[in-house]
Amino acid sequence: MRPMSRVVLARQASWQLADANCAGAAGQWAQWEAEHHRASTSLQAAAAVRAAAALCRDCPALAACADWAEPEQYTGLAAGTMYENGRRRPEGWLAPGPKPAVTAN
Ligand code: SF4
Repeated sequence: MRPMSRVVLARQASWQLADANCAGAAGQWAQWEAEHHRASTSLQAAAAVRAAAALCRDCPALAACADWAEPEQYTGLAAGTMYENGRRRPEGWLAPGPKPAVTAN
């Protein structure tokens, strides 16, 4: 990626993100991110990432989204992968922090 100011990147991204495949899918997106955060195994984490990545795969804003996530220090699902503070994480990466207790039904 060529050097670009954050302001230019953000302006460019917001224009392109209006046509994003995830536009209007905020609720579903939050659910996938919550599933990823709750994941206690790499398989569970990867499943949440893959669900979101299926939407990202042919998104017209994919390149802008990836260019935006890093300088914005984004944490969450974007551009078909998981980011933590702007850093891409491998597919089975587990978010740090406490996980909810598993209860038997
Ligand atoms: S690449 Fe994925 S997260 Fe980024 S704008 Fe497109 S659908 Fe949304």
